[in-house]
Amino acid sequence: MLKTLDQDVSRCSRCGMCQAVCPVYRLTGHEKDTARGKLALIDGLMQEMFSDADGTAKRLNHCLLCGSCAAGCPMNIDILGVFLKARAIVEGFRGLPWWKRFLFRWLVAHPGRFDRLLARAARYQSLALKKKPVPMDGSCNRLAASRLSDRHVVPLASVPFHDMKRKSAFSPESVPGPSPVPLTGGRGIRAAFFVGCLLDKVFPETARTIVDVLETNGVQVIVPDGQGCCGMPVLAGGDRDAFSRLMADHLVRFDPDQFDYLVTGCATCTAAIKKLWPEMTSDHEEQVRSAVERIADKTHDISAFMVNILGVADDILSDASIVPATPTDANTITAPVSPVISEAGKTTAVHDAQAAYAAPDPDRMVVTWHDPCHLAKTLGIRREPRMLIKANPTYAFREMPDPDLCCGMGGSFNLQYYETSTAIGLKKIDAIRASGASVVATGCPACMIQLADMLARAKLPVTVRHVIDIFADIRPEIAGISENRLDASTKLRRLRYGGTFIKRSTNFGGKVWMDRDRLFMKMLNTVLTTLSERWAERSF
Ligand code: SF4
Ligand code: SF4
Repeated sequence: MLKTLDQDVSRCSRCGMCQAVCPVYRLTGHEKDTARGKLALIDGLMQEMFSDADGTAKRLNHCLLCGSCAAGCPMNIDILGVFLKARAIVEGFRGLPWWKRFLFRWLVAHPGRFDRLLARAARYQSLALKKKPVPMDGSCNRLAASRLSDRHVVPLASVPFHDMKRKSAFSPESVPGPSPVPLTGGRGIRAAFFVGCLLDKVFPETARTIVDVLETNGVQVIVPDGQGCCGMPVLAGGDRDAFSRLMADHLVRFDPDQFDYLVTGCATCTAAIKKLWPEMTSDHEEQVRSAVERIADKTHDISAFMVNILGVADDILSDASIVPATPTDANTITAPVSPVISEAGKTTAVHDAQAAYAAPDPDRMVVTWHDPCHLAKTLGIRREPRMLIKANPTYAFREMPDPDLCCGMGGSFNLQYYETSTAIGLKKIDAIRASGASVVATGCPACMIQLADMLARAKLPVTVRHVIDIFADIRPEIAGISENRLDASTKLRRLRYGGTFIKRSTNFGGKVWMDRDRLFMKMLNTVLTTLSERWAERSF
């Protein structure tokens, strides 16, 4: 691994292009925080590691892994890959701390165990919640004392997606069988859904909406049971062993022969599967590499899949212009012109909605879009989610300044360097405020959590939503549109979805906020209880 690192590092021309775009450098002004500074550190990694392993780890970890530097690097260096490999080397040298071994190897690398523990945490989290009458989706009071008490977090869902799938009538194909199930009707497309931890446990309604939207558009969806983390968090923590275990597990569950596409609703999961899985298995045997590459080729973010593969927005908007079209009244909606789905006994069509749009409508809810770093910078997906938003005529889309400015989340960066994370996040809030939007949409559940925290901190009455919920959900009563337009919207939606009116929402504004400090204590208590039970049973 060191050899490939050397090759990458030696390509750095020290041009400094990465300096201007680095959100951490913009805040600290320290060269050591830029990609160039870190690559210089990695250049002498062995020496640095032997002289000060902890300091080296700290410098490497002071990075959001946002990829802003890599996106503009003229030498096209795979900077994130280099950083992740360097973290693995350093953590391998100094040894993972016990809590990381517990968290990554005992918990996250075992999806069943992880699910059970978080199910217990979800059951007891109300003890750690501070219920607040939240003004306009805004803030809750800051609790006294401790370091974490001024955070606002989105609670765990009481029923995670994997349980929702198991217990309800809602039943996409659970597990790919030994041979693919013959397709009947629809578009003849079979897509596997990689759910991801946060959509599963925090935003299960969004995960369900993804399945609904895909099925409504004629896609057969399979959702392999027992799936877990994409591996990005454990790799960011320097644990390649846990990553390898997760990879091996997912290769069993996601057989590329059994689906045409793999779809995710999380920018980080998409980037991990498309970029990191192949890169981190490049030294594995041929069979593994080939399976991983085939999966990576088939993987799409939900917005890119909807727009580029299914073409759902083609007839609605032909470009990504900033000023959206506007719906007029019901009478302007005529017959559907572009049939796109033919299922047994049902034809769904996309209306040529341009004809139904006219003058600007001041009554529509304004929505803006935050580009998740892993979607925009790592994968170059910018146009598609905007098109999905504009495809919903009950919202008016308005671009914010610097929409691809990092929100400051960075996974464990947020936990380790919360003050820096907050300072970066509040710049994003300024941009949202400048847009005048009352809804901010994005495509990454981690960004959603960070944006909610920052919006609450800034007391800005803006709701955070996933782009697929915006696309799928018309909520005219909230948009405040007239009865006449409500009819128009409903008709348009019915035309587009063949009579199926999708109405789910993951708007968590106004929900209970949670004090993470108390949550941590509660979770720790649950962990210790589980361990003591397991110890009594000697089952691990
Ligand atoms: S932009 Fe690329 S080549 Fe230039 S200094 Fe940064 S890492 Fe090196
Ligand atoms: S990944 Fe982001 S935070 Fe890290 S060095 Fe690059 S630009 Fe800076």
